[in-house]
Amino acid sequence: MKKTRVRFAPSPTGPLHMGGVRTALYNYLFAKKRGGDFILRIEDTDSHRFVPGAEEYIIESLRWCGIMPDEGLGPDGRLAEKADERNPHAPYRQSQRRGIYRKYAEQLVRDGFAYYAFDTAAELEAARSQAEAAGQTFIYNAATRGSLRNSLTMGSDEVERLLGERNDWTIRFRMPSDEVVVMEDLIRGHIEVNTSTLDDKVLWKRADELPTYHLANIVDDHLMEISHVIRGEEWLPSLPLHFLLYRAFGWERPEFAHLPLLLKPVGNGKLSKRDGDKMGFPVFPLKWTSPEGEVSRGYREDGYFADAFVNLLAMLGWNPGTEQEIFSMEELIEAFSLEKVGKSGAKFNPEKAKWFNKEYLRMRSDEELCSLFMPILSSNGVNAPAEKVQEIVGLIKERATFVSDFWDIAWYLFKAPEEYVEKDASKFWKKENVDMARQALTETDSAQAMEEYIRAKEWPMGKVMNCIRLALTGSSNGLGIADIMRFIGREEALLRFRRAEERLVIC
Ligand code: GLU
Repeated sequence: MKKTRVRFAPSPTGPLHMGGVRTALYNYLFAKKRGGDFILRIEDTDSHRFVPGAEEYIIESLRWCGIMPDEGLGPDGRLAEKADERNPHAPYRQSQRRGIYRKYAEQLVRDGFAYYAFDTAAELEAARSQAEAAGQTFIYNAATRGSLRNSLTMGSDEVERLLGERNDWTIRFRMPSDEVVVMEDLIRGHIEVNTSTLDDKVLWKRADELPTYHLANIVDDHLMEISHVIRGEEWLPSLPLHFLLYRAFGWERPEFAHLPLLLKPVGNGKLSKRDGDKMGFPVFPLKWTSPEGEVSRGYREDGYFADAFVNLLAMLGWNPGTEQEIFSMEELIEAFSLEKVGKSGAKFNPEKAKWFNKEYLRMRSDEELCSLFMPILSSNGVNAPAEKVQEIVGLIKERATFVSDFWDIAWYLFKAPEEYVEKDASKFWKKENVDMARQALTETDSAQAMEEYIRAKEWPMGKVMNCIRLALTGSSNGLGIADIMRFIGREEALLRFRRAEERLVIC
C-alpha cells in the first residue's frame, strides 16, 4: 500500500484561524494513526495577499499545539529551503519553487488542456460590463472563449509574437464545455458537477512568473507524493478543477476529504473574528499584531493550555462515537478517523471551550500550577515561598478555569485588603457583630477553637464569620475562614481585624 502522506498547506495571508489549526490537527492525527507523514507547505504564490510575519505565526502556532510536521521544517525550526534526507522536497515555500511550475503549465497547453490568454484587464472588464448590461454574468469558458483574445482564437504567428512582446498574458485551463465530473470525497461522499458552470481558471501568470493556487497545489501535491488531501470545505468548489487537472496531467490523484466549517456560536455562518470580538473569545491560537498594529487575542495569551486547546479543536467536527470528551494527543491519534467527521458545520461554543481548560487545569499537578502561578504573584509584588503557594493552589484549583484566576480567587492570602466592599460592610460591620468577632478572635488560638467558642456562646455563626471574613478579605465571600487563617496565621488575622476596626465605620 502507498505510504500515507498528508500536508497542511496554508497561505500566509494573516494569522492562522482556529479552523486552520483544526485542519492541521486532523491531517496530523490521520497521518500519525496510519504511520504516515505530515508535511508543512507554505502556499504564497499570491503576492498581493502576503502578510509579513504570517508564516512565522503559522509555524509557532503548530509548535505550541504540538502538531509538528515530519517534513517542511529545517533544524532551525524555519521552513526548509534546502533539500536533505529529512526534507527531500525542499524548498517548501512555493514562491521559492517558482521555477518548477511553468513547464507543467506549458505541458497542458501543448496537450490541448490549456491555452494562452492575452485579454487585458480592461478588455475583461468590458466583457464583464457588457454581460451585466444584458443581465448576465460573464464567465470565461467554452461559451465565451471563442470571442476572446487567446491562442484558441488567434493564429500561431500572432500568438508567438504576443508571447514575446507582452508580459501580461496568462495560461488558462480549458474547461470542458459540458461534462459531468464525478467525484468521491471521504467526508461528503459522491459529488457530481457539470463543467458548464465552471470557468477557465488562470493557472500561470507571465506578469509575476508565478502559478496560481490551483496549479501550484496540484503540481506540489503530486511531486510531494501526497496520498490524501484533507482541507476546509471552502475548497470544495475547486475540486472539479483539481480532478480535471490530475486527469490532464495523467497523474494518480490523492483521496480528498473536505472538512465541515466552524460555525458561529449563535446564528448562521462561518465563525469569524468579529464573533470573537463581540462575545469575548479568541479565534486565533496566538496573539497577533497586524502590520497595521491591530491586536487580536489568542488562546495561548488568554491562558488556555495547549493540550486543552487541541482537545477542544478535535471535538469540533469529529466525535469518537462514545461519551468520552477528554483526550490526550496519543488518545486522539488512536481514536481518530475521517468516517467520524461530520458533514455539517460544527457550532463553536465558547463556554465549552472554557470547560475544557477547567478540566485540564484540574488535571495539572499542584507543583506545575504553582510554578505557573509564581510569576503572576511576582507581577503583583508578592514574594511567597513555593511550598505555601503550592498548598494554596491545591486548595483553590477546583474553582479556577485559568491559572490567572488564582490571583482573583486568593489574592488576600498574600496581602491584606486595602478596601472593603461597601455593601458587605454595611451588612455585616455592625456593632454587636464586631464585638463578638473581636472577642472570638482574641480569646481563641485557632479557627477551629474560634468556631467552637462562637457555638458555645450561641452567637449567630454566619454573622460573626462574615464580619471576620470582611476584615480578612475585604468582602463577605471567599474561602472558608479556617483556610484563610491557616494561610495568613493568627497574628496577621488579628492585625487585619484591627485595621478594619480603624478604617470601617460601624453601621
Ligand atoms: N493554500 C490553501 C489555503 O490557504 C490550501 C488549500 C488546500 O489545502 O488545498 O487554505
